[in-house]
Amino acid sequence: MMTYGFDTVYLQPVMVPHWVRGDKELGRIVNSKKLGSQEVKVVSLGNAVGTGPEGTLGQIIEVNDLQELAALGRDKIEGKIVFFNKSMDAKLIDTFRAYGGTSGQRGSGPSEAAKYGAIGAIVRSLSSFKDDVPHTGSTNYGLNVPKIPAVAISTNDADLLSGLLADDKDLEFYFETYAQMLPDVLSYNVVGEIRGSEFPDEIIAVGGHLDSWDLSEGAHDDGAGCVQSIEVLRLMQAVGYQPKRTIRAVMFMNEENGLRGGRKYAALAEENNENHIAAMESDRGGFLPIGFGISGTEAQQTKLLSWASLFQPYGIYQFKKGGGGADISPLRTQDVPTIGFIPDGQRYFKYHHTPIDDFEAVNQRELEMGAAAMASVIFLIDKYGL
Ligand SMILES: [Zn+2]
Repeated sequence: MMTYGFDTVYLQPVMVPHWVRGDKELGRIVNSKKLGSQEVKVVSLGNAVGTGPEGTLGQIIEVNDLQELAALGRDKIEGKIVFFNKSMDAKLIDTFRAYGGTSGQRGSGPSEAAKYGAIGAIVRSLSSFKDDVPHTGSTNYGLNVPKIPAVAISTNDADLLSGLLADDKDLEFYFETYAQMLPDVLSYNVVGEIRGSEFPDEIIAVGGHLDSWDLSEGAHDDGAGCVQSIEVLRLMQAVGYQPKRTIRAVMFMNEENGLRGGRKYAALAEENNENHIAAMESDRGGFLPIGFGISGTEAQQTKLLSWASLFQPYGIYQFKKGGGGADISPLRTQDVPTIGFIPDGQRYFKYHHTPIDDFEAVNQRELEMGAAAMASVIFLIDKYGL
């Protein structure tokens, strides 16, 4: 951003959690009647504790959701490894809704299982695909609940395990992980801006998150959103457009594991009496743009929706009420309208939080088209307000 010659480029210091995976993770079906012993690829969930060298060994009890877990209760759960095996609902066209419908088993499943005396948790990867790739992501331990180790396995392995369990109730699983939480460390949001020529105090922020899970580069999640945000500003320069309002590209830190960067950004905006007239987020991958969703007043939503016909010739058709993103959500308490960029979501949950979310997984043309769509909306807001 400094190279592009934006007016200001600066850091916002923020303390973030420091979780490390450790360098060894192994999983094994131990005593299958059909397979004997078989290795299974496991990845620790983010924030999870590790088993250490002694590992965790236990019988598996499979559940589909938290209600089923509660119904089984301590009698059936105590001393066992709970296997959360709910699939993402393939009938939902909106993959983010399908994700939302299953993410609870990863986020709170392990800690819920621990309440009933479970010694470990295995979670079916939150993927829309059947493959051999495990997906990580954060899990959260409840207060005053024992912290049990928790891992994800691929959808194929989840199906395998479930199939074996169907007629092998004594099946045992062993896993060994070395994850641990260290003291918080200093990190940063990164901000670049072009100052407005007429209303410099009116800010339009556009951002993505700079952190990613450790298994890969995090190209779709959310390198794409970061470079697209920078690209919005660069495109304005490239076409010689001088914005009336201040346009700010924000790379938020720690979206994945606590949202500290998003909260810090909003806190600083409030502290410095900044006037954000809109905030946009791209955190759904660098795929073909199909629309935008907006949260705000009725008038703000109507205004954004009124621009829909301008985008239709480009195949961008989905303008809807409701939207934003995790990192800009804290700005809602200051009544800032938030806009979520919506790309095609059908392939996102193949890469999300996996070892294969690398640069090569992103299609440059789709990424650029997304950035152009975002820049077009930011341009309209700059020109006409929101
Ligand atoms: Zn993300």
